[in-house]
Amino acid sequence: MTATISHCMHKECGSPVFSRGLCRRHHCTHYRAGTLIDFPTQWRPRPHVVEDWLELRHLGRRLAAERLGMTYDAFVRALQRGVKDGLLTFEQSQSPPA
Ligand SMILES: [Zn+2]
Repeated sequence: MTATISHCMHKECGSPVFSRGLCRRHHCTHYRAGTLIDFPTQWRPRPHVVEDWLELRHLGRRLAAERLGMTYDAFVRALQRGVKDGLLTFEQSQSPPA
């Protein structure tokens, strides 16, 4: 399983990620400073999403998205882009039959 528990981008911080690769405190700091724009919401590299999905596929899309800390919609979009980019087949992007 290649999925790692994500920690705040500020290396010295080490707190779990809240959003945009930042912990709650740093998210707040950057929000106030107006620099949140520097931290994209989709910071997770796409090939990893596909890799992790192929390992978590038996769980189905919803649970896998949850496990990867992504919203279902963002997860499905990532898979759709993965199919478009040839990282996986359409078949592979679907939840396995129950
Ligand atoms: Zn932090």
